[in-house]
Amino acid sequence: MTVALVLVGAAGRMGRAVEQAAAQVPGFAVKARVDREAGLPAGAAGWTADAAAVLARGDVAVEFASPAACAALAALCAGRGAGLVSGTTGLSAAEEEAVRAAAARVPVVRAANFSLGVAALRRAVRAALEVLPPGWDLEIVERHHRMKADSPSGTALALARDAALARGRDPEALRFGRERGRTGPRPADEIAVHAIRGGTWVGDHAVLAAGEGEWLELRHVAQDRLAFAHGALAAARFVATAPPGLYTLEDVLAAGSRSHQT
Ligand code: NAD
Repeated sequence: MTVALVLVGAAGRMGRAVEQAAAQVPGFAVKARVDREAGLPAGAAGWTADAAAVLARGDVAVEFASPAACAALAALCAGRGAGLVSGTTGLSAAEEEAVRAAAARVPVVRAANFSLGVAALRRAVRAALEVLPPGWDLEIVERHHRMKADSPSGTALALARDAALARGRDPEALRFGRERGRTGPRPADEIAVHAIRGGTWVGDHAVLAAGEGEWLELRHVAQDRLAFAHGALAAARFVATAPPGLYTLEDVLAAGSRSHQT
């Protein structure tokens, strides 16, 4: 079966990586490329700024564009009966709600990070926290390229929330960075997130756990956006046959390992 893809944000860094990955893997056909008027390559055929003009039932829209584009596209997919794979980060509560509403009618995979290595990192962090006592301090450091629009990264937030839940703490009570001055001793129950921006870093996440006289660092480094693009294509293949619902990359991986076992 060939999965017909509509790429939204197709001219961007991730859109181009998904296009490149789709050319490497059999079973995908890029049917249309959508970007803002300003992002359309001059004179390129098959590009449009209007997703509604190209999206049909049975297509899978793969979106790495902007929070507003994600919310609008989710409603459009629900109306057309198309599946959605969305990787945009930094959505507002209302935009997340728009995605949830669409998922009642069509299959949607949302992930702040589509790399398999990060899926493994999240599992490794949960496993480490089962062993480490609650007194160990947890800090997350992420590094991204200078053009990244949101901070901290969606992946750093997901890692911090995983850690908070594993510790039985409020996943929204996080510390972001530290001010200059006499900040005093570190509160024992704090989970802190620090964002570094510069250069061309694709994505780097380190989870540090510090105890008495020892510390542990679990770290993932994405060197190329193809790491995310291949995960997004696995999600697109899953979405092409899944019933309506809001799915995570974990659901995609679980379905993949089930099909390998049969
Ligand atoms: P980018 O700026 O290079 O590309 C975004 C593209 O979307 C641009 O070409 C822009 O013109 C287009 N766009 C913006 N609004 C649009 C709209 N309303 N309609 C149509 N096109 C629109 O950004 P990027 O580095 O490709 O990242 C895009 C998003 O994906 C960001 O939120 C980023 O954090 C996220 N991201 C997620 C993952 C993941 O694995 N989930 C990985 C990398 C990046």
